Amino acid sequence: MSKMKPLFLAVAILLLTGSPLLGQTSAPVDGIPAAKLDPQIVAAMKNVSPQRIQQTIEKLVSFQSRHTLSADVPATSGKGINAAAEWIKSELEVYSKACGGCLEVKTDEFTQDTANRIPQPTKLINVYAVLRGSDPANASRIVLVSGHYDSRASETNDATSASPGANDDGSGTAVSMECARVLSQYKFPATIIFLIASGEEQGLYGSAHFAKMAKTLGWNIEAVLNNDIVGGDRSPGQDPHTVRVFSEGIPVNASEAELKLIRAVGGENDGASRQLARYIASIAKEYMPAKEFQALPVFRRDRYLRGGDHTSFNEQGFAAVRFTEFRENYDHQHQNVRTENGVEYGDLPKFVDYSYVANVARLNAATLASLASAPAPPAKVRVLTKALVNDSTLVWDASPGGLATGYLVLWRDTGAPDWEHAQVFGNVTQATMRVSKDNVFFAVQATDAQGHRSLPVVPVPER
Ligand SMILES: [Zn+2]
Repeated sequence: MSKMKPLFLAVAILLLTGSPLLGQTSAPVDGIPAAKLDPQIVAAMKNVSPQRIQQTIEKLVSFQSRHTLSADVPATSGKGINAAAEWIKSELEVYSKACGGCLEVKTDEFTQDTANRIPQPTKLINVYAVLRGSDPANASRIVLVSGHYDSRASETNDATSASPGANDDGSGTAVSMECARVLSQYKFPATIIFLIASGEEQGLYGSAHFAKMAKTLGWNIEAVLNNDIVGGDRSPGQDPHTVRVFSEGIPVNASEAELKLIRAVGGENDGASRQLARYIASIAKEYMPAKEFQALPVFRRDRYLRGGDHTSFNEQGFAAVRFTEFRENYDHQHQNVRTENGVEYGDLPKFVDYSYVANVARLNAATLASLASAPAPPAKVRVLTKALVNDSTLVWDASPGGLATGYLVLWRDTGAPDWEHAQVFGNVTQATMRVSKDNVFFAVQATDAQGHRSLPVVPVPER
């Protein structure tokens, strides 16, 4: 009898809680259950070095000008954008050597025809490194981090004046490179790309070319983290504990049919880029002490009158967001280096807060590593609407790639900015929630046994 007792207990627990194989393993919870921290991600974040970031930014500034139109200055001169590109490439190769050649260091070179802010055909070079996914079933999934290495002075097409670009965008370049350095020490099931783009200041030409190439080649990019002006400029009013994360609401490339659906279901606040922004904020909450660092999601594509490389990816249909410091100092960007009436102008290294950039890099690294470790998002998520009932049934296709061991159904009031409730499910493809679909927004995340979570996917109605 005593031998039977544990078995009896197990059966009783199963009957009370429901078998994981049948799906439901938890009651709905108020708030989102905290994810388990991944020790590998914690270790990678610790390796992010403010000193390394400072060295990177000071090296970038040493090229005097990284203006896109300085492309006729030979790299051998040690000045101009070509010299900067060569150095970035050689530095990524150093990181690759340290991991036994794990990074594929590449360039995407092309001639940009005459266009707005491009007075004559100009050669552009995007530099990137690929950390190929270690799991053949997941290696075609890609997460990407970017910064732009071109810089500018007061005049848009002035390719000769000093344009240090320490913050704009030496900081984003350093974030992308530092993520490559620390994450290349580990293996992830999915692929991570570290992009350092050119041509941003002239009109997003480098990222536009890269994003079009990705679309043409059918790359499955799940997320793009673009970092532009993340230097944490040391001036009054700066919040050194907060980074803004801008995301578009209604996808810029949505088709007429997709727009119709968005209007019908109230999906204005649930585009893929918005889900990515919420995901980043949740990673910051889990992996970084709130007093030290947080992400502030801004529900807007970008700042007024401004643009950035994430938009190039949005235009090709990819989820993409922009990280930017909390408060910009306009005397320290897009300005010739000078002093006027006691005011210092110019984008100089001394205004950059390297501890701040390191925290931005840590948040990027944690997000990239989480997504590259997580199962693929569930596919074809639907909410059944045929029957007029007050319960809500969601169905989906299993997360492809074999990493998922369960799913998390999220929901929130329609007026709430972020997910408020969750229910944990086992390895199922259907869940019925005791809450009316008419009153809330739902999404489904795939999860694994280690606690990694995919990006959430909102359902489309199925009749
Ligand atoms: Zn910029």
